[in-house]
Amino acid sequence: MNDPDPSQPQPETLECLRQLIAFDTTSRNSNLELIEWAASHLRRLGAVLRFSHNTERTKANLFATFGEGPGGLIFSGHTDVVPVDGQNWSSDPFSATIKNDCLYGRGACDMKGFVGVVLGQARLLATARLRKPIHIALTYDEEVGCLGVPRLLQDLHTAGIKPEGCIVGEPSSMRLITAHKGGRIYKCRVRGKAAHSSLTPRAVNAIEYASRLITFINGLALAQESGGPRIEGFDVPHATISTNLIAGGTGGNIVPADCEFMFDYRYLPGTSPDELIVAIQRYATQTLEPAMKRRDFGAGIRFECIGRIPALDDQQHEEIAAWVQSVVGPHEPGKVAYGTEASFFQEAGIPSVVCGPGSIDNAHRPDEFVSFEQLRSCERMVRRLAAKLSR
Ligand SMILES: [Zn+2]
Repeated sequence: MNDPDPSQPQPETLECLRQLIAFDTTSRNSNLELIEWAASHLRRLGAVLRFSHNTERTKANLFATFGEGPGGLIFSGHTDVVPVDGQNWSSDPFSATIKNDCLYGRGACDMKGFVGVVLGQARLLATARLRKPIHIALTYDEEVGCLGVPRLLQDLHTAGIKPEGCIVGEPSSMRLITAHKGGRIYKCRVRGKAAHSSLTPRAVNAIEYASRLITFINGLALAQESGGPRIEGFDVPHATISTNLIAGGTGGNIVPADCEFMFDYRYLPGTSPDELIVAIQRYATQTLEPAMKRRDFGAGIRFECIGRIPALDDQQHEEIAAWVQSVVGPHEPGKVAYGTEASFFQEAGIPSVVCGPGSIDNAHRPDEFVSFEQLRSCERMVRRLAAKLSR
């Protein structure tokens, strides 16, 4: 297929991207207007649509299919963006602004740029003589813990739809990303017993027990750093654990009854996250709690997992990786520190990689932008993959 102007993205791409940026889909807002707009665009071109919603039905995922039959390929992107609160923008973040062959706006790079390219290419997907289906997945609430994509995957599972591969278009400067770490965030509540601080033997000091647990967690982190498994290619080649938030106590002369803290665990692909978590819980239940309960039976420690992203493992998707590489050009696949929805697709049995326009350094920042060159390179990827799946 020939390109009219090699320096410009296609008008459809820019038009779709303009529309997408104009919807303020900051994660705290509903994304329904954007989804309805995308759905009517895709429906007009003949796509078959599926929707899955959050419990309150204020947000939706859209799954659109061109072509027929089993398998096929998914282009997937999230529709939500991070807030602009407190950021100093030189233009309206919710109105696409073009300057020096770059398009500025909230989400331009993370990741409405990719979504705009895919929706802009929908006419081509609709008219291609596809041997296998091409699906477009648009999700909600990625930026606040990947809350939407599990619902989409549940819906596909229920409907018996099993695509053979997925490309998640997070900004990677159009380089192929085949691995990222997994992550868990835990909240830990330490319940002790209050007393006047002159009477410490009658109390259970929640802060002191929390600090022992935090020290134990830090010991595990140091052991990972010095002797744990390593995968070169990651910025930090080993697992990391750190306590990042803590609250407790009510006054300088009161033994605290409560202390709460959060820790964040980033683990390597191919390793089980449970081992370390079990070790932490065992230290709490077998070493700390018995001592606490001797003073007060109501004392104890509770854990709650408040966020999880599986790791993306490069052992499980060689075929889709080779496909993407064959259309974006040969280079060493990357390993990145940030988590993406690709690992959720992989966990559901759909081999997945990350490749999208724009630089991650630019995501979440004021004056976020995507360059025309990156948009064009993404258009090429979509077109070439569609050609590969066509008769
Ligand atoms: Zn993103």
